[in-house]
Amino acid sequence: MKLYNTLTRKLEEFKPLNPPNVTLYTCGPTVYDYSHIGHARAYVINDLLRRSFPFLGFTIKHVMNITDVGHLTGDDDSGIDKLEKGAKKYNKSVWDVVKFYTDYFFKTTDALNILRPDIVCPATKHIKEMIEMIKKLENKGLTYETEEAIYFDVSKFPKYGQLSGQIVKEKLKGARADVYVDPKKKNNADFSLWFKRVGRFKDHTMHWDSPWGDGFPGWHIECSAMSTKYLGETIDIHTGGVDHISVHHENEIAQSEGASGKQFVRLWFHYNFLTVNGEKMSKSLGNILTIDDIVKKNYDPLALRYLFLQTHYRQLANFTWEALTSAQEALKKLQNIAIDLKSQIYGPDESRKTHGYRQRFVNALADDFQIPQTLAVTWEMLKSDLSAKEKLDLLLDFDKVFGLRLIEVKEEIIPKQIVELAEKRKIAREKKDFNESDVLRNEINSSGYSIEDIKNNNYKLKILK
Ligand code: AMP
Ligand code: ZN
Repeated sequence: MKLYNTLTRKLEEFKPLNPPNVTLYTCGPTVYDYSHIGHARAYVINDLLRRSFPFLGFTIKHVMNITDVGHLTGDDDSGIDKLEKGAKKYNKSVWDVVKFYTDYFFKTTDALNILRPDIVCPATKHIKEMIEMIKKLENKGLTYETEEAIYFDVSKFPKYGQLSGQIVKEKLKGARADVYVDPKKKNNADFSLWFKRVGRFKDHTMHWDSPWGDGFPGWHIECSAMSTKYLGETIDIHTGGVDHISVHHENEIAQSEGASGKQFVRLWFHYNFLTVNGEKMSKSLGNILTIDDIVKKNYDPLALRYLFLQTHYRQLANFTWEALTSAQEALKKLQNIAIDLKSQIYGPDESRKTHGYRQRFVNALADDFQIPQTLAVTWEMLKSDLSAKEKLDLLLDFDKVFGLRLIEVKEEIIPKQIVELAEKRKIAREKKDFNESDVLRNEINSSGYSIEDIKNNNYKLKILK
């Protein structure tokens, strides 16, 4: 499988460290407010990637964190903790905020049929591991302490900047004039590993004891500490949004490699944003939609999932209601095809040819994860001359990656009295009594069903929508 690696800026043949096992770490949500469908795109892409590995013959261990402390409103250690901000905004305790928005996040991912990672780890449950890692960095001389915090000293880590290709000298220059900066911070790119509960943080609600006094961890250390705990010092794939490349992931590399002396991540996989009118969907721009907004307008959340299948992960995807409507129609069509195919399967007497569709599907996946291409192969296969059984087998197999729940769709249940009307109509038609047959058709229609005549005077009943 070829995947684009942000670190090397190249398409690479992906080979896990210990085949066939793949270790995958995903940066999870900061649970201080409602997850929106921009987040949903990120986690659907993750889910597609996660589902592709077993499809391609790998086994997978997937870990995702939940950021429930320490993520400040400014990526440069400025501002306040987002969790504290959420608590003020909603007038709730910080712990209630964590619980409520974690639940909302999973409500969203469940609606989109996103599989739960094997391990979901909240930062606040791993303070001990974070402290251990900071101590290790301290022992290696990679940190310094001020009255306010413990910082990672990026000038001691020569590879700093390699992921984003930023010239460190640029990053080291002065901070923005409008934000608070610890006057004892040496370089602008240095980042906090531990904040002390003093100064602007003297009333911080979440706090723990540490070798550097009472306080709370900086945002980045949680991912380094938890990925090491659950997946080891070197992991195969680390995923996140493109917004994480220049600060969060750069800092994760510095911490993890600083502590272990080993390569942290073999392949960095970053997905692009969901936009609205060309702008990133985000709370600060006020252009967010939640899964509830989608459901309120009578869309199936899986239509949103289908919509996300249509754009390659490295491209921006623009959200419009028209695009969602088309995705819903395509999904409905696919569901109806699945129902139809299921009703046509009579026995195992068919040959098992697949005309290379499975291979083409795999090839598209293996070509930097071309999900839109796999979708095109699927539609082409459904229009081909394969038998119903062959098509259904392939479709359900492909849906292990798509996750559109096609295995679950069933012919709608038609009430007995409607079937009786249809049977009466069949007899009338056999007697060529077309008046009676029309009367019965009207009766069926006015009860909310359609009837379609097929071969041998048989019929198909459907619910009218
Ligand atoms: P956060 O909760 O802000 O840490 O974001 C969680 C994940 O969602 C990160 O990987 C972000 O890159 C991603 N994300 C946030 N907004 C969007 C968006 N509009 N489109 C796609 N991904 C997003
Ligand atoms: Zn992270």
